[in-house]
Amino acid sequence: MDVMTNISLKQYTTMKLGGETRYMATADSAGDVVSLYRNARKENLPIFVLGGGSNVITHDEVFEGIVLLNKIKGFEVISETDETTDVKIGAGEVWDEVVEKAIGLGLQGIEAMSGIPGTAGAAPVQNVGAYGQEIADTLISLEAYDSKTDTIVTIYADECDFSYRNSIFRDKEKGRYCILNITLRLNKAEPKPPYYASLQRYIDENDIREVNLSVIRVAVLNIRSEKLPDPAELPSAGSFFKNALVEKWKLEELQREYSDIPNYAMSDGRYKIPTGWLIDKAGLRGYRSHGMRVYEKNALVLVNDSATGYDDLAAIREEIVQIVFDKFGIKIEQEPLELSR
Ligand SMILES: Cc1cc2nc3c(=O)[nH]c(=O)nc-3n(C[C@H](O)[C@H](O)[C@H](O)COP(=O)(O)OP(=O)(O)OC[C@H]3O[C@@H](n4cnc5c(N)ncnc54)[C@H](O)[C@@H]3O)c2cc1C
Repeated sequence: MDVMTNISLKQYTTMKLGGETRYMATADSAGDVVSLYRNARKENLPIFVLGGGSNVITHDEVFEGIVLLNKIKGFEVISETDETTDVKIGAGEVWDEVVEKAIGLGLQGIEAMSGIPGTAGAAPVQNVGAYGQEIADTLISLEAYDSKTDTIVTIYADECDFSYRNSIFRDKEKGRYCILNITLRLNKAEPKPPYYASLQRYIDENDIREVNLSVIRVAVLNIRSEKLPDPAELPSAGSFFKNALVEKWKLEELQREYSDIPNYAMSDGRYKIPTGWLIDKAGLRGYRSHGMRVYEKNALVLVNDSATGYDDLAAIREEIVQIVFDKFGIKIEQEPLELSR
């Protein structure tokens, strides 16, 4: 297990901002994770678990602790029936490679989540999702190191409190667990309609007659490339704001003024309003401030052109939040988590 000192975090996050961490360690196994936490406890150092850094914002001050880079590998079929296959995946696997492998095995359930950056272990943290699928649909359980009890535990999907872009791992148990592996139950089947609206539009526009897992993957990757910047070329954290969730009365109030407001009914009775639409309607598409920019192709994304630190990001975030609130009375929230001391 390598331990490095005074490492700039800029290269470890896709937003490419932030200061240094006092220590950084790479964990290749559950054993590495356990010994790292035990040593950190002795030294009274906090640990922050980092995957691909595609949903993390770092502060400028030195993080006086250990950033644990999760590199635990593995992709193993552990059981199957006539209809389903259970696959156990190491937390450090690159998520999109997992999707590609599953499709290669003819397994359905995560193909619409093609192209999401980051690692498999981070996927349950914010219940990642795209184009009508989310990890909560296929995750059965995961194994994690529990820093509170100093044990390795199995956590079942119904204990994760999954909801839209949320789970216990970024909410009430934030920082407690280091996820070691995840187990997904995938279907031995081809995808079936109805497809997510933008996916169906792509299928129609390209006159695709036969839809299979690989077709969905290519479609999703193409749609994504039109709307999302490639982190290798343009620093961003993907969607910087969560979509807004509002009560029915609030939606009706807004519909009186904006009859075209897009909205999706949620299972809890609330309505999801695309925050990109709110930001766009507030006139902020392409808006530039403090070296940051609201991405022209997708107003939900903030890109870092030349920002020098966290304060630049915080400044444009506050401007956008205030302008959207003044116009719609909705307080939009940041999606990426923050690494700070
Ligand atoms: C261009 C772009 C497009 C994106 N598109 C989507 C999208 O379509 N849908 C979507 O849901 N998200 C999307 N995201 C956000 C991001 O890709 C996901 O949230 C992803 O799961 C983050 O993975 P990561 O490994 O980079 O996690 P990191 O950014 O490294 O970490 C995210 C959080 O998870 C925690 N964490 C990471 N690994 C572990 C672990 N093993 N155990 C415990 N905690 C852990 C970290 O401490 C942190 O709090 C996008 C991001 C970008 C940059």
